Order: sequence, then structure tokens, then C-alpha cells
Amino acid sequence: MYSRIMLKLSGESLCPSGQSGIDHETTVSIAAQIKDVVDAGIQVSIVCGGGNIWRYRDNTGSGIERTESDSLGMLATVMNGVGLRSAFDTLDTKCKVYSAVDLPHLVEPFNARKARSSLEEGSVIVCVGGTGNPYFTTDSAAALRAAQLHCDALLKATTVDGVYDSDPDTNPDAVKYDDISYDEAIAKNLKVMDQTAFSLCQEAGIPIQVFDFGVGGNLLKAAKGDSIGTRVHS
Ligand code: UDP
Repeated sequence: MYSRIMLKLSGESLCPSGQSGIDHETTVSIAAQIKDVVDAGIQVSIVCGGGNIWRYRDNTGSGIERTESDSLGMLATVMNGVGLRSAFDTLDTKCKVYSAVDLPHLVEPFNARKARSSLEEGSVIVCVGGTGNPYFTTDSAAALRAAQLHCDALLKATTVDGVYDSDPDTNPDAVKYDDISYDEAIAKNLKVMDQTAFSLCQEAGIPIQVFDFGVGGNLLKAAKGDSIGTRVHS
């Protein structure tokens, strides 16, 4: 069982499939699954993506140049963090949002020492604003914050049950890995996380557990270190 985890959620997990924005019912059901992990005595930090609102690569035709478009993506992650905090409020669960983007009337600036204290005090913490820099993704932000917050593992919530050698949606013969090294994940250019995220986790010695978040109870299993999905490690 891990004592402190980093959970990477995609922005799209905050709304029903095919929709956009923040859906309160969906967000509360996610928060409830996370509360189960907290109630099991595991400290939880979260990095949430912004794909339900804005992603640079989905908006290349917007006429907005890359650096500013990436900033919009980072702002989208702040919106999601605020949505998650409201969901935790609904469940009477302590939650703090720390941001790499300066919006002091809404969220606190990220400070690793303060965030670690909040975790020790039993708050869920949500790190928003990505890394604060363009040309990165929230996968890399999750790896970075996991290292800064001394997390024991990065749990990557997905809609498939692990990492495959090819796309299981298009290749019926795709083979699932139970276990794979960082080096192999990088060499095979596996798309489940970006290469920067794999490298950062390798450098910090943080294992990555890729699991299907759509199956109830899987988050708690992954947080307890059960062998579900795929484990990426040294
Ligand atoms: N982004 C960024 N820097 C970061 C993190 C995110 O510029 O450190 C921007 C980038 O445009 C990205 C968007 O925010 O497309 C949303 O993040 P991401 O695509 O990782 O969200 P997810 O796919 O997990 O919902």
C-alpha cells in the first residue's frame, strides 16, 4: 500500500463521454472514489488535465499562437481544479488547490512545502496550471509534482485497462503489458504518457500505474498497490 499518491486525471474524466465542460454529478462521483482512498489512510494529490475545455492540439485552427493557446489549456486546468474542489466540498472532504498560474483570488500559488503539509494534515490537494509553461502537458506536470511532493507512485487514470503494444481499439491482436520498464516505454514511444513524463518518473524513481478508472473500485486497488493495469518501473 502506498502512503502518498499522485493521481493523474484527464480533463475529459470530469464530464460524460463525448461532452465538454465540468459536470457536477460526474465530478462528485470521481471525488467519492478519491475519498475512499483518503479514508483508507492514503494521502492523495491530483493533477487534472484540461482537455474537456481547451487543449492546444485540439485547437490548432483557432488562430491563437502556440504559447497563448497553451496558456488557455493551463487556465482550463485551473477551472477543473475549482470544479473538483466544489465536489470535495459536497462530500465534506478537505481539499486545497495549488496553482502554477497566478490567480490568487481563486487558488493558492503552488508551493511544494505547503502542499506537503496540507497532505500531512489530511487534505486532498489538486495541483493546477500544469507546469506553468507552454510546450508541456499535464502528464509531465503530474510527474513533476509527484517528484516535488515525494509521492510513492503516479496513478494514471485512463479508459483502457493498461498499456498495450498497439492500439487495442484498432488492433484485436494488441498485447497488454502487466509490467514494463521506463526504458522500454520510452524506446517503444508508448502513447499512454508523454516521454517527458516517463523520463521524469524514471529520474525520480516513481513507478507509474496505468489503470482503467471506469471500473468502480479500481482507484482504491491501484492506490493499495494491487497489480491491476500496467506498472511502469525501473
Ligand atoms: N498545458 C501546457 N503546459 C502544461 C500543461 C498543460 O501548456 O504544463 C496546456 C496544453 O495546451 C495542453 C492543455 O494545457 O494541451 C491541457 O492539458 P492536457 O492536454 O495535458 O490535458 P488532458 O489531455 O490530460 O485533459
